[in-house]
Amino acid sequence: MKTAIMSAMYEELNRITKQMNISRKTKIGNRTYYEGEFCGQEVVVVFSHWGKVAAALTATTLITRFGVEKIIFTGVAGGISPDLRIGDIVVSRNLYQHDMDSSPIFPRYEIPLLKNNHIETPETEIDKAFNIIKDFINEDFSRNFPAEELERFHITKPQVIVGDIASGDEFVSETSGTRQRIINDLPTVLCVEMEGAAVAQVCHDFDIPFVVIRIISDSANDDAHIDFPRFIENIASIYSEKIVEKLLF
Ligand code: SAH
Repeated sequence: MKTAIMSAMYEELNRITKQMNISRKTKIGNRTYYEGEFCGQEVVVVFSHWGKVAAALTATTLITRFGVEKIIFTGVAGGISPDLRIGDIVVSRNLYQHDMDSSPIFPRYEIPLLKNNHIETPETEIDKAFNIIKDFINEDFSRNFPAEELERFHITKPQVIVGDIASGDEFVSETSGTRQRIINDLPTVLCVEMEGAAVAQVCHDFDIPFVVIRIISDSANDDAHIDFPRFIENIASIYSEKIVEKLLF
């Protein structure tokens, strides 16, 4: 099965592009698509840039130009559930677009003409991701990371949770406003990011399985931690590499 590995940021995937067997690099629409083999599987790796439009463009190209049969999205997200800490992992169930609002024509959050306000992740993809991530966490998790980096971000034993994710074209960083509205209106949402629901909608329309896996990088509030590039480079990119490796095997 030809699988796409997609992230919003280059740094999240550079460990994978460095290790994979690259057979071809193609530039389309300001993105570079790396085709080749990783862990014995045929893959296309790409970083989409941030936001829903960028993600939708990239997912569409992966499906229509590269013929991928599945999309795995990995990246970071802001946790809004009080149960989530930095370093925890969320596997997507329902994906909402928290900035979708065509009311009064359709109810707020409903995706026009889809008669639904969310897209569901296929159950088999959820189960697979959840189980391999549980193994990743339980099997000597910390040996994969520089000890001082885990300490810096206070990560000891992360948890993996399956749940709802909300995407929108906004970096949510204030306790008031968007964050509070999402908590009120979409109470099952665990974390926020800027791409997942767009990828989900494209996959839904093309009938392609997908899963979104998000590592919590901040709490989508006033004290979103300061050393973001360091978190991506030394923590999130290692999570992505190890999780994708296990998913493909
Ligand atoms: N402000 C940071 C980078 C933002 S990261 C910096 O200083 O570098 C934005 C990316 O991370 C997006 O791709 C989005 O999907 C994800 N993300 C992480 N935390 C988020 C949050 N609180 N709100 C929205 N997106 C978030």
